[in-house]
Amino acid sequence: MKITLLGTGSPLPSVTCAGPSTLVQADNQFILVDAGRSVVPRLLGAGVPLPFVGAVFLTHLHSDHICDLNDVITTRWISSPAATPLPIYGPIGTKKMIDGLLAMLSQDESYRLDHHDDLRAAGGMKVEVHEIEAGHTFSIGEVKISVHATDHRPVAPTIGFRFEHAGVVAALAGDTIPCDGLYEMCQDADFYVQTVIREDQVRAFAPLVPTGERFLDIIDYHSTVQQAAQTATKCNVKSLVLTHFVPAIQPGGEAEWHAMAAEHFSGEIVIGPDLTFVEK
Ligand SMILES: [Zn+2]
Ligand SMILES: [Zn+2]
Repeated sequence: MKITLLGTGSPLPSVTCAGPSTLVQADNQFILVDAGRSVVPRLLGAGVPLPFVGAVFLTHLHSDHICDLNDVITTRWISSPAATPLPIYGPIGTKKMIDGLLAMLSQDESYRLDHHDDLRAAGGMKVEVHEIEAGHTFSIGEVKISVHATDHRPVAPTIGFRFEHAGVVAALAGDTIPCDGLYEMCQDADFYVQTVIREDQVRAFAPLVPTGERFLDIIDYHSTVQQAAQTATKCNVKSLVLTHFVPAIQPGGEAEWHAMAAEHFSGEIVIGPDLTFVEK
């Protein structure tokens, strides 16, 4: 199994970090988890053409995790030789969001259908939406997936995914604070991928910007670096993979983030940049 951090950014725009998105490769399957800003060029950077993406999983419907899903849907459609529907798995609410997204794309779809006979013959842009909840289990090829509740309130529902293939387990958490669902998902995992924030830097930065009070609110519903490391220890994971850096890591700053996590977790700690991968 190979896990690639396609984008390690957050809602804050960054020149170097794409938005949150992670690629899971196993059993010749390419599964995209979240579709943040610039996910399509990052997929190219990972060597994965869009037609190879077999499914998209969404942890929640915050804009930073879905804002380039339209690009995934459109680019996969127009670059695929055959019209293969794109399965999209997400929490309750995903259908409503996708209906709106497809409405937004409908004019472009009609332009392309009018212009390209082969696209017209194939029947247009196709997605299959599966709304899933904690407790669901299913497979894609030989990859087993279980869905777990996370806690990103007031955003609800939010979910994380435990992927299992050939004895290797990866737990992809999305945005969440530590909670029972997260612990259940991560138990004994080989890889635990967690979106994190630096509480100390958020608190230092907030007074400097006009939206500082709102910026402080994010502390309530994300794991800090230390909390992610504590979860990794509690759940006996082998490798902690950090992503979704708030704020973006400054050049040369990885060591400080690493040291902060290492105070609470003695296993392997992996920190971006974009396109960093782990494999087992
Ligand atoms: Zn986020
Ligand atoms: Zn979020």
